[in-house]
Amino acid sequence: MLSIYNTLSNKKETFERPKKGQIKLFVCGPTVYDKTHIGHARTYIFFDVVKRYLSHLSYKVIYLQNITDVHDKITERANQERVKPLVIARRYEKYYFAAMKKLNVASVTKYARATNYIPEIIKQITILLSKGNAYIIQNDGIYFDLKSFPEYGKLSRRTTEQAEDAISRIDESVSKRNKGDFCLWKFYSGEISEPFWETKLGKGRPGWHIEDTAITEKNFGPQYDIHGGGVDLKFPHHEAEIAQQESASGKKPFVQIWMHTGALLVDGKKMSKSLGNFITVEDFLKTYSPQVLKLLVLKNHYRSPIDYSDRIAKEALIEWDNILQFLAKLNFVKKINKVSKTLSSDIETLLTKFYAEFNGAMQDDFNTSKAISSFHLIINEFQKRIYSLNIKEIKFIEQRVVNNLNLLGLEVKLPKIPAKIAILGKKRELMRSNKQFIQSDDLRKEMDTLGYTIEDTPLGSFLWPQKTSK
Ligand SMILES: [Zn+2]
Repeated sequence: MLSIYNTLSNKKETFERPKKGQIKLFVCGPTVYDKTHIGHARTYIFFDVVKRYLSHLSYKVIYLQNITDVHDKITERANQERVKPLVIARRYEKYYFAAMKKLNVASVTKYARATNYIPEIIKQITILLSKGNAYIIQNDGIYFDLKSFPEYGKLSRRTTEQAEDAISRIDESVSKRNKGDFCLWKFYSGEISEPFWETKLGKGRPGWHIEDTAITEKNFGPQYDIHGGGVDLKFPHHEAEIAQQESASGKKPFVQIWMHTGALLVDGKKMSKSLGNFITVEDFLKTYSPQVLKLLVLKNHYRSPIDYSDRIAKEALIEWDNILQFLAKLNFVKKINKVSKTLSSDIETLLTKFYAEFNGAMQDDFNTSKAISSFHLIINEFQKRIYSLNIKEIKFIEQRVVNNLNLLGLEVKLPKIPAKIAILGKKRELMRSNKQFIQSDDLRKEMDTLGYTIEDTPLGSFLWPQKTSK
């Protein structure tokens, strides 16, 4: 039975299969004004796993993600570079897609750009105005009236901002009725650089929160199953989404389950350009492989904060290297122990236990951290007897391990040992069998300087590249 922690109820809930058998999942996408950093990647890596695992449980999932391509941060950047806002938006959207592609975060069914939903935004604002949930400030904008929605704060259990909240300057105005009222539509001020749309509500641009509810209402209707995003979006962004959609449709709850990923700090501090601790996905991948970033993210419980440092990146690298080395060793043994015998019952038991542990962890609110521990247990268990495994057993183990890794979005690509190195390895083996230990040791040193280690096993020498970052 799958259980998911729901931010709205503040507890783990048993996940009920939606009536239509389809799960509608929406996750807040990027505001495209800068390169995607590893904190953003954390959220998208995690929800990619959510989608993969739900599909594995044979749910049909429609995964929708918005692209915020109109936002004051985009306009600001455009002004700095003296280009149009859309130039910035499209440039960083490209960076985002490139980063996701490299990370093989491929499970989004549909991306929706906010600028393609202006009519839907206008429609929602019109309804909110007619129902008395929104009001107009002349020469300024249209705002949501928080007094009209007494349940405001039910998701985050607060109604005022805190330091870690993601806020948008568009919501600022001195003439608002209530301090927390947020902007639905900002009128064009006359500033040349400002993007605007001519609409029946006046010339202007949308607020941030309304983009998402206009997109989800159009694609999913007024109610859907799961909404995800980073914890910094809980307030006011997600709170505002609830206020807008529940006021507009009169239907509650807007979203059945709210899921939030924890923050990613760098050396204990919030990532920021001014602190110089801003790590883009692109930068990270200059040193490490995409699998290392994914493992680093998934090793941590999704709701816990991650304090990123070089140390934890290196730890993830070593962990990933161990998993790959185990799989490579199975391959190595497979080539030698070619006789296909039967699967011994204790191995079958171990594999069943491994799958049960993995699955149990995933069913318990997507506990990827525990799911990853199950790999180490199985590796330790098989490591002891790896050289006596027969080909049939190896195939079963390989399949189970690789399938579970794939459910976590981790792809196995074993390093190739160059022919030159393999020849040196053979040469050394020959020297060893001829008891030419001095020469054999020299050759080991030579291979070491070439970046390869040799392990003498009962089945011959096993070669492995040293833990280079890539
Ligand atoms: Zn959003």
